[in-house]
Amino acid sequence: MCSVVWTQGCPLRCPWCHNPELRPPDGGTDMGPSEVAGEIERYADYLDAVIVSGGEPLAQPIDELRELCRLIRRMDLSPVLDTSGYPAERLDRVADSFDRVALDLKAPLRDEAYLRATGDVMDAAELRRAVQAVRGRAELELRITAHPYLPDDCEPLIESVKEIDPDYVVVQRYVGKDGKESGPDPNELASVLEEEVAVTVFVRV
Ligand code: SF4
Repeated sequence: MCSVVWTQGCPLRCPWCHNPELRPPDGGTDMGPSEVAGEIERYADYLDAVIVSGGEPLAQPIDELRELCRLIRRMDLSPVLDTSGYPAERLDRVADSFDRVALDLKAPLRDEAYLRATGDVMDAAELRRAVQAVRGRAELELRITAHPYLPDDCEPLIESVKEIDPDYVVVQRYVGKDGKESGPDPNELASVLEEEVAVTVFVRV
């Protein structure tokens, strides 16, 4: 079982964002690493891992993220990062604090497609830098949300997954703010990836 720490603030502007309330930097509750760890500790006996998610966790002070990971490990729990990988330079400073990094692949690794999927903030080169920041330092989970801005043609996405060569892939369904599911079928997308790329694919629905 996992506990999730939701961080406030995200510099990306994905037009399909399902957590827009977490994008502004202000809001939420201001807590330091010790206070967050104190909350987690109350449930530590029931937990295996703590996922730091958002928003974008890399928007938080890096030294505080590192300290939070240290405190999580002290409880014998596994720290996991959910991230867009933006900015990669900050990921590079913290990736080795986590056991696993779940890195978003928001579009095929082509600048036009990647910029479109992230609201003109993150390009494909930045995602490549993020992959390099994680490789060999934490388990690399590549997470693909089957959102409506993905192109109909799967080939560029297949090529991108091959290039990234993650430890495994998680495809998750997309549910919009209206509660309706849209975008490609996650099971079909997972089957195509599993068939075309020699990688394990899990589906999260
Ligand atoms: S990275 Fe996540 S939280 Fe940030 S804008 Fe994109 S979907 Fe929303």
